[in-house]
Amino acid sequence: MGNSIIADDPATRTLCPVKAPKIELHVHLEGTIRPATLLAIARRNGVALPADTVEGLAKLYEFTDFAHFIDVWKLTTGCLRTAEDFRQVVVEYAAEAAGFGAVYLEGIFSGQAGVPWPELFTGYTDGAVEAYERYGVTVRLTPDLYRTQDVEWAEECARWAVRYADRGVVGLGLGGLEAAAPAARYARAFAIARDGGLAIVPHAGEAAGPESVREVLAYEPARIRHGIRAVEDPAVLAEIVDRGIVLDVCPTSNVRTRVVDSLPAHPLPALRAAGVRCTVNTDDPAMFGTDLRREYEVAASLGVSAADAYVAGVAGALCDEDTRARLVEIGRQHYPEVPDRDWDANFRAFHG
Ligand SMILES: [Zn+2]
Repeated sequence: MGNSIIADDPATRTLCPVKAPKIELHVHLEGTIRPATLLAIARRNGVALPADTVEGLAKLYEFTDFAHFIDVWKLTTGCLRTAEDFRQVVVEYAAEAAGFGAVYLEGIFSGQAGVPWPELFTGYTDGAVEAYERYGVTVRLTPDLYRTQDVEWAEECARWAVRYADRGVVGLGLGGLEAAAPAARYARAFAIARDGGLAIVPHAGEAAGPESVREVLAYEPARIRHGIRAVEDPAVLAEIVDRGIVLDVCPTSNVRTRVVDSLPAHPLPALRAAGVRCTVNTDDPAMFGTDLRREYEVAASLGVSAADAYVAGVAGALCDEDTRARLVEIGRQHYPEVPDRDWDANFRAFHG
């Protein structure tokens, strides 16, 4: 199969102009690496890949099923070794996203066995600085713990994240299949992060149902990644709305991984109708055959405009006040259809 099942539908292509400013809060940096970059990094590190041309690798990247996705994920992350690799990954994705109008990104990354923490954190945070200097995109970072990961290792990750809080690390996440291990395993890691001024941004309500969203609500998440299956439980949905929690929705990802049957069946419209603020995101664009513009187009085809997604992005961004004020200013300029009270309301909601 190709990558044509959903997003690159000519009917949706005009729905979101490239120049419309965009915010993306849910993108795994390891999942953004296009074949040419992977090839260059693998060569540099002397890592053998199953293909040694861009075309060959691109074919390997074509999504077939979830098991294949995990294989490609392991292949990709296994090539990344040095601070220079991580720097390159974040700078190249910032360049790609800026080409689609991105003004603010929160990149997710995972720790890896065998890679020293300083290489990982220094590479990504240096890359974030460079991304802003070269492309004008503000990049903030949130390392992700993986359910089933060793608890002590997770707590070490949290401590490193705190150490880099003044260099662009703004939160700590949790990923992996929700059913594989309870979030409570990582309660101490979350506490370390929170004590260090970081936000908690877990995945939930993706493969597992609303009970997994309820589970992470106990850790006072700033946002929830995916969270879409909250739609199945009115009480969980109401709590998300009441608490003003933003969901980071990734439509193409959800279809690829078969969390939803098809785009028309995606719960994004139902979530918006219930009053949930939803950002629009790629999750793993290189592996799911998508990009930020396409996701905004897909969202528009589901009735969620770029303006609407942007407003949610401003509300959910884990940034300092100057940055938020700048994002609001960009939004007011480009999305005059958004009433002042919406900017104000989101701003207030975020600050409780
Ligand atoms: Zn994700």
